[in-house]
Amino acid sequence: MDSGERETLLIIEDEADIRELIAFNLDLCGYEVLKSADGQEGLDLALGHKPDLILLDLMLPGMDGFEVCRQIRKHPEIAQCPIIMLTARSEDENMIKGLELGADDYITKPFSPQVLVARVKAILRRRGDLKKKSPTGKIIQARDITIDIPRHEVRIGNKRIELSATEFTILQFLAENRGWVFSRNQIIDAIKGEDYPVTARSIDVQIVGLRKKLGDHGPYIETVRGVGYRFSGE
Ligand code: CA
Repeated sequence: MDSGERETLLIIEDEADIRELIAFNLDLCGYEVLKSADGQEGLDLALGHKPDLILLDLMLPGMDGFEVCRQIRKHPEIAQCPIIMLTARSEDENMIKGLELGADDYITKPFSPQVLVARVKAILRRRGDLKKKSPTGKIIQARDITIDIPRHEVRIGNKRIELSATEFTILQFLAENRGWVFSRNQIIDAIKGEDYPVTARSIDVQIVGLRKKLGDHGPYIETVRGVGYRFSGE
């Protein structure tokens, strides 16, 4: 994105007071804010505007948040867009299901606007850092997995694999450090930066999703019992 251009965020949330509260606070931070109360309309807005980040409520009338998430990941032009799910505190299973579908993070309701804004900034900063850190043309070849960092693309042979932004970042981090074992907390630090409250459990869920998408190549991401994960160095 050009410097000076405002980042665009899309909020898909049917509860008007929550939607307006989020919109108000993000607008204060200088973001361009798009809003929808409806899953299908939200998806159409995402396709039309290609936002930099989507805040997605899971419990929506009509097309629910899970389906919206699935659809976003299916459309190549917005498949890499970071998604933060909004869930109720009691919806642990929903949170895991959402992460498996490719959401990058979740926030449980009720949440403070400050926490929400901090999460949004952290994810956008991480994406920005990732782009800056990667010299143009940098491609990691790990066995027959090709990780094309500038294009944010993963291929196995000629087949393109669609990963969420977080899955991509984890794979990139592990593949850049092949053979080294990292704890869940080290992975969190590496991909999120400091003071970012993602749980060890959500790293496990992301790894499960990543392995599934890598198919036959999934086992290259090894679990080191009692320690963490590594990309097989052999
Ligand atoms: Ca709702």
